[in-house]
This record gives sequence, structure tokens and C-alpha cells, in this order.
Amino acid sequence: MVSRVIPVEPFDLVIFGGTGDLARRKILPGLFRRFCAGQMPPEARIIGAARADMDGAAYREMVAGAMEEFGGGFTCEDKTLRAFLDRLDYLAIDARGDKGWAELQEKMKGKDRIEAYYFSVSPALFGDLAERLQKWGMADKDARIVVEKPFGRDLDTAKKLNGTLAAYFNEDQIYRIDHYLGKETVQNLMAVRFGNMLFEPLWNAQYVDHIQITVAETVGVGGRGEYYDKSGAMRDMVQNHLMQLLCLIAMEPPARFDPDAVRDEKLKVIRALDPVEPHHIVRGQYQAVPMDEADHPGYRTAVGDARSRTESFMALKVHLSNWRWAGTPFYLRTGKRMSARSSEITVVFKDTPHSIFGEEAGRHRNVLSIRLQPNEGITLGVTIKEPGPGGMRLIDVPLDMTFAEALAGEAGEQVDAYERLIMDVIRGNQTLFMRGDEVEAAWTWTDPIIQGWEARNDVPKPYDSGSDGPTDSDELLRREGRAWRGVAP
Ligand code: NAD
Repeated sequence: MVSRVIPVEPFDLVIFGGTGDLARRKILPGLFRRFCAGQMPPEARIIGAARADMDGAAYREMVAGAMEEFGGGFTCEDKTLRAFLDRLDYLAIDARGDKGWAELQEKMKGKDRIEAYYFSVSPALFGDLAERLQKWGMADKDARIVVEKPFGRDLDTAKKLNGTLAAYFNEDQIYRIDHYLGKETVQNLMAVRFGNMLFEPLWNAQYVDHIQITVAETVGVGGRGEYYDKSGAMRDMVQNHLMQLLCLIAMEPPARFDPDAVRDEKLKVIRALDPVEPHHIVRGQYQAVPMDEADHPGYRTAVGDARSRTESFMALKVHLSNWRWAGTPFYLRTGKRMSARSSEITVVFKDTPHSIFGEEAGRHRNVLSIRLQPNEGITLGVTIKEPGPGGMRLIDVPLDMTFAEALAGEAGEQVDAYERLIMDVIRGNQTLFMRGDEVEAAWTWTDPIIQGWEARNDVPKPYDSGSDGPTDSDELLRREGRAWRGVAP
């Protein structure tokens, strides 16, 4: 079976920040892949709009270079690339001034097609862009805007940003990107939970001992040191990506798979989160390991601040106060420069109420691991008898399914998160985008945690690059008779 590609309707997509890193690395290559897949109608137009002075030809050349650099080995016939480049145009524009706006207005005039504006610029410019889109008559009620993270750095700034956008656009026109939600396997979380009878009856505090969510990266802050140091793991990863994973794993089944039904249920999860106790918070900062310092400097060297107190690692124990989950802890963990790149959700079920095999058979638990990356798949740990004549001894074996193997020859192409999300914008489907109230609820929970450690003058614990974070993170689980699963390859 080959996956069906349904072309979207003709559209004009204006990419503000069309010369920037995100546009070159993700947005434009993603659009190109959709073009090659036949999903983009021939009439579609993509207009880069950024500060640099260049003409359309120079922009097309820049984009062609970006395809080569960031296409990830993806190839498409030369003539297809040329056909894609023909869809591109460019305008030098100033988000804070008048330059370029009359020309953009002219280009967008009188066309009967979907209009989308991607704000791939600093959030400080979101308000300027929204205001000018309205001033120049482009903020009509069918237009869509796409905004990138970070969406605020606390509740106050997120509210202001929501307020600014709401002054010019309705909520159903605003697409707040959390690219994690566009990942195939993240959507699979919903399919696994709500498409199978097997799991849902057990998906509650009565049967689940605890749940772990890990998003580990091997990379450090790289060239983003200055930005990252003002943000840290809590704002950069936990408040958005891990929170979204927590929502999908913990939410009630929505009545329908439609944007508001799904987002209403996610919002209820965020609102059910308890405040986090200080001793359930572990912050870490990676340090260089001797011999490797030249290639992989420690965090403070990388951000150029020998006294930085920003965390590159977070582990948290959190609770949800609702009927389904009261009493079941969720352990969240994310970090940079860890031992392996891995995003995984692990559901650890409780012991059987009584072991008929006696103490010597040992304690065994079912563990369901959902791997989001790499090697996407699901493993269910099942207890069986150890083979051989040694009596009734039990062992755990994995029922393992790697999606790529299970779907070999069926699934068709891999679709990158950005490709999927941009096509959803054109289709007008907001299910995989964050709603304004969701973002504010997430900050409402996050703010006191950050304020708490700031008031305590907390200094993150150092951890070796290439390890699994500070030892306090292991201790967070060990003192409760539990242990982190996974990460190390
Ligand atoms: P960048 O600095 O590489 O590019 C910024 C773009 O904005 C450039 O095209 C520049 O010309 C344009 N610009 C700047 N000032 C302007 C003005 N006054 N008028 C018009 N255009 C102006 O930034 P980036 O890394 O591409 O990031 C863009 C946005 O995406 C940011 O909000 C960032 O936080 C977010 N984001 C980036 C990444 C990433 O991997 N780069 C990941 C997630 C989110």
C-alpha cells in the first residue's frame, strides 16, 4: 500500500524571515518535499520576505543552496527543483517600517486562494507584522498566521503576545507551532491509545505505577548559546514539548478527533497539574570531560558566561490531580549533551496483586515503551517462564515492534514534522497546533517552578557530557524504589 497524497488547495505562503536559519533548514526543504510528493498544486506561490536586499533570482539561488545543504540526502529530479523554484518569489521588507509592504499588498491582491503568513522571525516582531498585515489590508478573516516558538518566556509575556495577535486575528486564524506535535510518532500516541482496546482500560492510576517521559539530546547548545542561556531546558523543552507529550499520554479520550475537542482535553491535563515540590526538581548543567574539551566545551564555555546558572538538564516528578491519575507520578527528563539521542515514553505497570509463583520467581512488571526517536516503535515487556528445566523461574521478554520494519513497503515516505504542519495550515486544520489558552495554562504551571528556584538561588548540578544527567536525577527515582529506563544506546 502506498500512502495517498491529497493535494492541498492553491495557496500563497509568505515566509517572513524567509532568509533565516529556520526557513533554510526546515520550512523551505519541507515545502520542496511536499512539492516533489505532488501535494502542492502548481499554482501555489511561496514568497520569502526578509530584511536582506535581493531579487527573486538571488533568492531562488539561495533556496537551491539550502536544498542541497539541508535536504538530508533527499533528491528529486532537477527539473522538479526548477519547477519548485519557479514557485518562489522574494521581497525585501521591514517588519518595523513601510519598506516592501506596498509591493507585498500588490502581490497578494485579488487572488482567490488561501493566504498564509509564516512569522519565522524573532517573537519581538510578531506584533509589528500583525499590525502591518492589517494596515495593508492583508489580515482578512480567511488569512492564517503561523507563529514559531518561543511563545513568551513566562505567563505575562505569553498573555501579551496572545493579546497582540488577538487584536488583529481570531484564534482560528493563529497556528502556534510546536514541531513536536507534527512528528509521526507523537501522533501515533493518540492512535495507540484511542485506536486499541487493549491499553485504555489499564491506562490509569489503578494499573500504572508511574510514567516516564525522556527527551535526550547528544548535542550541546552549539551556536545558539546566547539564546539558550536566556531560556534554559525548562522554557526551551519542558514548558512546550514535554508538556505536549504529557498531555497526549495523560488526556481523556476526546469525543472526536477535531481541533477543539483534542485541545480541550489537553488543556484539562495542564490544569490538573499540581505545583511541583522543590525536592522533586533537578536542574543540571553539562561540563566538558577531560581530553574532549576542545571538541565539546562545557556549557559555561559554550555560552561564554563562566557564572551562568541556566540549566541544560531538567528532571521533574509531577502529579496530576484528577480521577484517572491521582497517585501515579510522572517523571519528566530532558537534557543536552546526554549519552544518546532519544525521545521515549515509558509506562510502568504495577505488580500483579499476588504472585502465585512465590518469592523466588522474582518481581516482574509490564513495561510499555513508546519510542518517538530514533528507531520509532513500541516495546511491551511481557513476563514468561524462563525456558529449561530450572523450575518456574520468570523472565521479562520484549514484544518489540519497530514501525519501520512493521510497515516496510507500506508506509511510504517519511514526512518531516514541518512538512506536515505547514500542509495542515493550508488545510486549515489546527489539531496539531497549540491554542492560546493551552500556552497560557502551561506558563501558569511553569512560572512558579522557575520563580521558586530563582528565589532559592539554585545552582544547577554539573554533569559530565555524554552521561545521563546529574546523579540527583537518578536519586529522584531511586529513593522511591524506581529507576530511569532507556537513553543509553
Ligand atoms: P534567523 O536570525 O536566522 O533569521 C531571522 C530572519 O528574520 C531573517 O530572515 C531576517 O532577515 C528576518 N528579519 C529580522 N529583522 C527583520 C525585520 N525588521 N523585518 C523583516 N525581517 C526581519 O532566525 P531563525 O533561527 O530562522 O528563527 C526564526 C524564528 O523561529 C525565531 O522566532 C526562532 O525563535 C524560531 N525558531 C527557530 C528555530 C531554528 O532551528 N532556527 C527552531 C525553533 C524556533
